[in-house]
Amino acid sequence: MNYYKTLKNCTLVFLFFNIISCSNQVTIPEDSYVIKNISIIDPIDGLQSNKHVVITNDIITMILDNDDEIIAKDDITIDATGKYLIPGLWDAHIHFSFDTSLAPYMPGLFLAHGITSVRDTGGPIDLVVKMKDLSLNDSIKNPNIYIAGPLIDGTPNVYNNSSPSFPLLSIENRDIIEIESNVLGIVDKDVDFLKAYEMLTENQFLALMRIAKKRNLSVTGHIPLSMTLFSAVNSGLNGMEHIRNLELSVASNSEELYKERIELLKNPNNLPGSVLRSSIHSQQRLRAIDSFDNNKFQEAAKLLVSNNVWQTPTLLLYRNFSQKTYTDPSFISELNKLPNQTKKKWIKEITETDTVVDKNGLRYSKWLESTVGKLHKKNVPFMAGTDTPIGYLIPGRSLHIELEVLVESGFSNLEAIKTATVNPATFFGLEGKTGRIKNGHKADLVILNSNPLDIIRNTQDIYAVIKNGYLLSRKSLDSLMYKN
Ligand SMILES: [Zn+2]
Repeated sequence: MNYYKTLKNCTLVFLFFNIISCSNQVTIPEDSYVIKNISIIDPIDGLQSNKHVVITNDIITMILDNDDEIIAKDDITIDATGKYLIPGLWDAHIHFSFDTSLAPYMPGLFLAHGITSVRDTGGPIDLVVKMKDLSLNDSIKNPNIYIAGPLIDGTPNVYNNSSPSFPLLSIENRDIIEIESNVLGIVDKDVDFLKAYEMLTENQFLALMRIAKKRNLSVTGHIPLSMTLFSAVNSGLNGMEHIRNLELSVASNSEELYKERIELLKNPNNLPGSVLRSSIHSQQRLRAIDSFDNNKFQEAAKLLVSNNVWQTPTLLLYRNFSQKTYTDPSFISELNKLPNQTKKKWIKEITETDTVVDKNGLRYSKWLESTVGKLHKKNVPFMAGTDTPIGYLIPGRSLHIELEVLVESGFSNLEAIKTATVNPATFFGLEGKTGRIKNGHKADLVILNSNPLDIIRNTQDIYAVIKNGYLLSRKSLDSLMYKN
């Protein structure tokens, strides 16, 4: 965008030394504003202090040095001295339809916390399409919403409305014919990706992958219990949620576990999907961890890297469930951000929960955190996601805590920011368009009062959010959240 630089003044200054001082005079185009004297944190290039960032409509059009002389009216400049600019954040794993009464409040909560994009990883197609349309119709007051449609599950399906913990988020498929017709129906509703779930048979999974590849859609999900990580990834799986079932494939006794699992999946006692699944996990998970085979793990990590399989580990979810951190009194005050009905419901449920730590869950959670650190060191690609509002994870707030857990698991602060900005953009093929602070990128941004490279928690210290180029002050952000 050098054509905006109209003049170049160079003055010879003779003080103690001969110094040539050059400053560009830059005319700001129409329909623009300038954020002056801000420190940029680009997820790839890192920190660049004292820059002026020009936003024209909804695009970053110029990034100028602070000695560039800006020719612009005062009313289009914002002095951001001492502040930090990061790209708008993503929560790459959310469910609008887990609690339909909370769904209408979730977009505001996300934006108020600097989350400008979300990936809905499973829910009834009509509801998630409605949420996506809402974001398209009012793109300033809503995050960008990318949807998978329902979880594509086998039989018995896990999320089948059997209890409030397992609302109807999935489609049950009894054979390949059902998979083909159901998946084609979902694809025709303009979903952005697909999500495979745990009870699929191998043949159903392969049928799903064939349609997805034909329609150029990425597939993320849980490794089906009927498959190994190796067979699912070699069949083209693009992403894994919660690192689900990795441990079963990297155990020295993985073949024995697999054979046992195939028998359990025959479901002789006709258990509901959610019960069958958790019974398999409780019988196999810790045995697999106890038999961890480093060679198999290295082989798995290599395959995940070579096939570019995105990991969204949702570490906070596991931590929360096992340690029951939501029973901590300090958490209750956070619930004021939620609508009254949700707040009341959560408090009732939380006070009925015992505070005893789930020791097995905690072991698994800690194992996952260290496994995530190891996979990250091997360059397996990661995205930050939470599963909100499952597990009393507050929409928006929980993403920031997930970033803290990622840092505790071995990510640098900048690497953690990358998992919530440019990485999810890359998952959707949007690299070069959004997720970075570069010319030509979308102006979905967050202005912070303090530096998240010093302390990652500073991502919560939000001064303003820019959505589609439109600046939302702290006051407007607060007004997007529920007021009790
Ligand atoms: Zn989920």
